Amino acid sequence: MEHKTGLVSLEHPNRLKVIHQMLDTDFPNELITIKPEPATMDVLETVHTPVYIEKILKTADYDFTHLSPDTPASAKTYLAAFLAVGGCLKALDSLLSGDCQAAFALVRPPGHHALPDRASGFCIFNNLGVTALQALKVYGLNRILIVDWDIHHGNALQRLFYDMKEVLYFSSHYVFTFPQTGAWEDTGRGPGLDYTVNIPLLKNLGDEDILHCYRDILSPIITTYEPQLILVAAGFDGHRDDPLGRTDLTEQGYGWLTQLLMKLGAKVGSPPILLALEGGYNLKALAGSIREVLMTLTSGDPEAEIPNPYTPQGEELVKKAAKIHPGYGIQY
Ligand SMILES: [Zn+2]
Repeated sequence: MEHKTGLVSLEHPNRLKVIHQMLDTDFPNELITIKPEPATMDVLETVHTPVYIEKILKTADYDFTHLSPDTPASAKTYLAAFLAVGGCLKALDSLLSGDCQAAFALVRPPGHHALPDRASGFCIFNNLGVTALQALKVYGLNRILIVDWDIHHGNALQRLFYDMKEVLYFSSHYVFTFPQTGAWEDTGRGPGLDYTVNIPLLKNLGDEDILHCYRDILSPIITTYEPQLILVAAGFDGHRDDPLGRTDLTEQGYGWLTQLLMKLGAKVGSPPILLALEGGYNLKALAGSIREVLMTLTSGDPEAEIPNPYTPQGEELVKKAAKIHPGYGIQY
């Protein structure tokens, strides 16, 4: 809430305010709160350059400044940014020590566009990038799946893990918008070849088609890869009411996506799931979508049937994915 971004940015403190109001009303007792601690410099330096981290700390000297044209900062932004990464790391500790099976890091600023030396697209530190690297280094994992369902491509996450098979980056996004990356053909490099999976979505795709893509494309990927941990870059700007969105997902669509992840995870030993907040700029849609995700995580029926009436557009995407990634045995 102390990361103040001025009057024009869509990424503003009220996003967290509405989420907290929703939590107070709808989840008065069901959730455990994990208190974040700021990430340390050492940990941040696994992704970011020392010069860049220094630049973020320096913003404390100004009431208001800009790290990039679209990424404003205020005097306490540095603290929020350190806590956003630290919150994800504390959640990771809780998950991997078995204290809980799923966690949602309700943090700002978001992270999936944050490059090693550059703030971009409202993002300052790469919250999930740092978290995945810690899971590899500290906990010795070697198969982490990142699912990025934000409507924007997580260019910085892709870049971080492009050469690695230890982190599989799966993203669905609208490609003709910021940051204009994430083509089908970007599939990884060297040992990381085929461990980047991009699904460029068409405009106005709805719940059913997007779920169809996730079910038919992600299902064989999860069965083949057998992830030990699932990280979700959980943006809600693909909602049909989002001012930046291009697809027509609904609140329930995000609940179904969550249920699908749980269901697919159950086939490979139910790896813990850590969601971290990315985009989502219609306040009502944001809070309502997160409510559905949390309802699903806390009391969803893993056996419930997910609706399946997809259109030829959804089917085309599955066909294309099968062609680009033959190794996963995607069926259509
Ligand atoms: Zn986004």
